[in-house]
Amino acid sequence: MVAGILCLSWLEKMTLDFSAIEAKWRKAWYDAKINESTPQPGKKKFFMIFAYPGVTGYLHVGHMRGYTFADAIVRYKMMTGHQVLFPVGTHATGNGAITFARKVERRDPVVVDVLKANGVSDEVLGRLKDPAEVVRFFNQIYINDYWKRFGFMSDWRRFTCTIYPDYSKFIEWQMMKLKASGLLIQRPYFAPACLEHGPVAIDASETDISKGGNAEVLEYTLLKFDFEDGRKLVAATLRPETVFGLTNFWVNPEVEYVDAEVDGETWVVSREAAEKLKMQKDMVRVKGAANGSSLMGKRCRAPYTGKMIPIFPSVLCDPGVGTGLVMSVPSDAPVDWIGLVELRKDKAAMQKYGITDQMLDEAAPIPIIDTPGWGPLPAVEITEKMGIVSLSDPKLEEATKEVYKTGFHKGVMNKNCGDFAGQPVEQAKDTIREEMLATGQAGLFYDLSEEVFCRCGGKVLIKKIPDQWFIDYADPALTERSKEHALAMKILPKEYYENIQGVLEWYRERACVRLGNWLGTRFPFDKRWIIEAIADSTLYPVYYVVSRYANEGMIRPEGMNEQFFDLVILGKGDPDVVAKSTGFPRSTLDAIRTEFEYWYPLDINLGGKEHMTVHFPVFLMNHVAVLRPQHWPRGIIVNWYITATGGKISKSKGGAQPIPDAAERFGVDAMRLFYAHIASLYVDVAWDDEKVDAYRDRLERIWGQVQDLVRTGTDEESKVDAWLSARMHTRLARLHGFMEIFDLRSYVNDVYFEMAQDFKWYLRRGGRNKAVISKALEAWISLMAPVTPHLAEEMWEATGRKPFVSTFQMPAGVIDESVVKEEAKERLIERLMTDVGEIVKVTEMKPKRAVVMTAPKWKFDMLTMALADPKGKPEISSLIKSAMTSVQSPAAKKDVPAYAKELSVDIMKASPEDRKVLGAGIDENAVLLSAKGFLEAELGCLVDVRAADDPSLQDPKGKARFAKPGRPAVYLE
Ligand SMILES: [Zn+2]
Repeated sequence: MVAGILCLSWLEKMTLDFSAIEAKWRKAWYDAKINESTPQPGKKKFFMIFAYPGVTGYLHVGHMRGYTFADAIVRYKMMTGHQVLFPVGTHATGNGAITFARKVERRDPVVVDVLKANGVSDEVLGRLKDPAEVVRFFNQIYINDYWKRFGFMSDWRRFTCTIYPDYSKFIEWQMMKLKASGLLIQRPYFAPACLEHGPVAIDASETDISKGGNAEVLEYTLLKFDFEDGRKLVAATLRPETVFGLTNFWVNPEVEYVDAEVDGETWVVSREAAEKLKMQKDMVRVKGAANGSSLMGKRCRAPYTGKMIPIFPSVLCDPGVGTGLVMSVPSDAPVDWIGLVELRKDKAAMQKYGITDQMLDEAAPIPIIDTPGWGPLPAVEITEKMGIVSLSDPKLEEATKEVYKTGFHKGVMNKNCGDFAGQPVEQAKDTIREEMLATGQAGLFYDLSEEVFCRCGGKVLIKKIPDQWFIDYADPALTERSKEHALAMKILPKEYYENIQGVLEWYRERACVRLGNWLGTRFPFDKRWIIEAIADSTLYPVYYVVSRYANEGMIRPEGMNEQFFDLVILGKGDPDVVAKSTGFPRSTLDAIRTEFEYWYPLDINLGGKEHMTVHFPVFLMNHVAVLRPQHWPRGIIVNWYITATGGKISKSKGGAQPIPDAAERFGVDAMRLFYAHIASLYVDVAWDDEKVDAYRDRLERIWGQVQDLVRTGTDEESKVDAWLSARMHTRLARLHGFMEIFDLRSYVNDVYFEMAQDFKWYLRRGGRNKAVISKALEAWISLMAPVTPHLAEEMWEATGRKPFVSTFQMPAGVIDESVVKEEAKERLIERLMTDVGEIVKVTEMKPKRAVVMTAPKWKFDMLTMALADPKGKPEISSLIKSAMTSVQSPAAKKDVPAYAKELSVDIMKASPEDRKVLGAGIDENAVLLSAKGFLEAELGCLVDVRAADDPSLQDPKGKARFAKPGRPAVYLE
């Protein structure tokens, strides 16, 4: 091994060809199949995945953050005694690939440009008109250009995709198990839907949609106002209890209204609203246009109160919001109040629509709600307070929110509200609505709080589905068991560990299938439905155990029936019977079953923060619902994003450099180091070319340092040899500790920055021993392997080691007494040099001689006593008492109380590690004397080492009394 160190031909190169090194090791690893996962009974296992990406286009450098983090963890586990399973896959369910193929077909310039920029030939482009080709194409890109390019330790044999026929068999089985547990339910549902694709999921991860992930479904109450000719003017409101304060009705003369036949009545609503109603109600028919202007100046009868109110014009009625007709409550709606004020000033409009002053007088606000902090007419009051006099004032929105919030949540209905007087508004709202619904004076209407667009570009609306299937995540038993299990899991960051309890508690039934043109698995109980994108991506870590056998043709989808999965996953059934029903050999069934029992449960599922409210909770709940408790997952890690300067890097919008280009430009290891160290995983951080370059420089410097260390090695032993070995033990112990809690950032800081300093110190102190250097380098390089594996392999090889550092077992850090002693010795010297440096800097002197005075014996005795205190909080008075009996010199006796106080503070502040070093019991005088030559050379002056209680000590400045254990006093002359 030592001879290998001296093969220095590789050292000649000044800069590194990262690309060549990466290619070389990637090939070597995969040729040697060290990435393949085989159970090894009796050996610990570690099973980790990252949430597989949706197949919707190219990924960008931001995505690699979480993936790389996972790979570093997996590699570390592999090097610390674990068999690892780190499979990857892709999620192609939905219409992402269909939409992509359509765009290619119609030569969408953005998509075509992105493809061409990524080097796609015209021939390949031609094939991408087929959604299945799109999935195949991106699967290969994700595997080869991203995950393999980054050197991942993934078992590629297990790759799976949600539209593979064998994967579908697994999803069918999952649905069967949910149904058998009573967790599949069916009922009418108002779902967000694309006209072409049917129901879409609206959530922040935007799997189905291209815009509007934060939209909410609003439930409006439709109030019917009788018009003189029998038609109903229909207004949508979120506040039906305000009917008591109705003064007038608003119609927009510029909007196109229609007469629509609904439930045997004729409703007047905007044309847009009629289209939405068609999706939510049976037998809606538009009969013809309704002229809004013809209603103006007439009256209609309000529901519930039966009051006749006038109809006024308002250009603020938006045909896309609600029904485009609005009821006016000027007491509590600032917009209504200002609308009336403006109308009164607009004599031309009044004349045109036949509105008289008297009608406006009739529409005076009626107080209906007692709102804390407000008078009887909050809308009037707030507009006056904020100086709002016009409908075009942007402050109106704020005023509306303010009045709405306090009125709705804290208000009480007043004496103008009949039987409801004295009731809280929130409660009255529900009662009034129920009453009006029951008597046919009102209806329900669902709409989205903001615009949502499907991935295909179509607008998403709310549609009634009479027989929708749901997974019942609101099931109380499932919720309870999931919450309880989550408490036992390792979930990071800790805020999410706490929050997931609420998320699970809050989780409701979720639609799990949809009609329309989607990629995905057909619902086994009704083949018209396709299982939607969230439902088929929750239990899938299970499937990576099986996928290899399907990929290698050992099992076929046709045989993968319910009994098959029951056997291999739940351990149910007679293997011989299952062998017969599936047509699979008994030995294959046994092998799969053994693998499942070996690998499961999943140790960590890592995913981006968009998964916190949707994917992670249902991942957990499906495991709890379907698997046996011993197979429920053990951990979740959430990663935050890499952003571009000025916002999120978007894969659909382009603009981010392709991952292979970035890999070529910066080097994979530099990128990996950037991801691991730039910030905590739990904050967003901006991508920064210069910073990635700086990490690349760091790697080149380390490479240079390793060269120097190897060159410097001789057979000569030195006094710091033992220290370097000790330091490696301390480092290892600390680093293993960081990885216990997946603190990769602290780990990287120690390995790539602090440890470089350790080696520098060793050389500075005269260390040259090549055997010692070699051993320490072995530890150092191995510690680099999880994060920058390619360069670590290169160094491993160059220092004469074989075969791979990636499969090397990292030493444990053993911190015994000798390690602590060595650490204490060097720390004493290092501290002394720092202290002297400080004095020289402050005094600007060039000393001829430094007198170093180590602490008197009584201070060491007192330290020993203080450290022995079991509470770690020594009693100052007892320290003093005991010292007084042993200290003889009157001058020292005087110093005892002050030192006792200082010592007590020092001990309380010290880390456990510091305490160990303090209590190492080294002979400081002897240590410093043995380093005298080094100190003299470093300080450029004579060094005199004395004990502070040495009677012959000359101490003209009286510095000796400041000496304490670990911190000698210094006097320069
Ligand atoms: Zn669509």
